[in-house]
Amino acid sequence: MAGNKTLTIIKPYAVNDGYIGSILSRINDAGFRITAMRFTHLNIKDAQAFYAIHKDKNFFDRLTAFMSSGPIVVAILEKDNAVADYRKLIGATNPEEAEEGTLRKLFGRNMEANAVHGSDSDENADIESNFFFSKMERF
Ligand code: GDP
Repeated sequence: MAGNKTLTIIKPYAVNDGYIGSILSRINDAGFRITAMRFTHLNIKDAQAFYAIHKDKNFFDRLTAFMSSGPIVVAILEKDNAVADYRKLIGATNPEEAEEGTLRKLFGRNMEANAVHGSDSDENADIESNFFFSKMERF
């Protein structure tokens, strides 16, 4: 059975561009409940640890530099079938290829600055939630 939690990050440019409210409102309108949330700023080591799975990719240095370049908002979202439904709401990795109306199409600038992160599996949703939130902060 699909899990009911996913983790999202509103990435630095989307925060800087003033899209936090619009993005959270679309998340709520799509039926997700926000069960944990933090405004924070990753240092380069945190960003490298979060994206360790991509450490051998040619975009790793650019991605981690970008993700540590400014404040982000991190949240745990709850809904039936959360991972798949949220991936649908955010759209394709490349904002240019994302469907109309998706968060990445609406608010993304380019591949790194694609507005939001969304977990790609239930297992990673758990790992990523534990990365950002202590047990007491997870409901
Ligand atoms: P996601 O699950 O759609 O976020 O995509 P991935 O897990 O494959 O990649 C993580 C993040 O790395 C993406 O959200 C992008 O910001 C970035 N990324 C992925 N692939 C590429 C790429 O080919 N080029 C660049 N520049 N960035 C990428």
